[in-house]
Amino acid sequence: MANNKTFTMIKPDAFADGHSGAILKMIEEAGFKIKALKTVKLTTEEAGQFYAVHSERPFYGELCAYMSKGPIIAAILEKDNAVKDFRELIGATNPAEAAEGTIRKLYAKSLEANAVHGSDSDENAAIEGSFFFSELEKI
Ligand code: UDP
Repeated sequence: MANNKTFTMIKPDAFADGHSGAILKMIEEAGFKIKALKTVKLTTEEAGQFYAVHSERPFYGELCAYMSKGPIIAAILEKDNAVKDFRELIGATNPAEAAEGTIRKLYAKSLEANAVHGSDSDENAAIEGSFFFSELEKI
């Protein structure tokens, strides 16, 4: 992917609490186009593969259990400077540090249950998008 795509997930709590519509509305109103979208429920093993980069970190096991506890939404988004602009829209990883008006400030429950994922680089956006979507599913 060039620098115009990013990958996001709406995490289990935000999905279960019925915030998906409001979050997708914020994403679209910020100028992102939805290029692929699906609802999925990961196994713990699949969450472990997705977050393999964090496998040495102390929160890895809990994070994998958390991300597989219920359905999520996975989506590929398009916009100029998508990765950077989306990280701004979602706010800091820890919602206590997230700026007012950001998705995490509005919808995160905790550091772990922080409502949404956003890729941290163009390279990871491509890898993460391909984890969930086939070439056929990417418009
Ligand atoms: N996380 C956690 N405890 C921590 C740090 C992170 O549970 O101390 C979770 C949190 O859900 C976060 C995810 O692990 O979104 C991935 O962490 P990362 O540092 O990559 O943050 P992100 O890129 O999602 O902001």
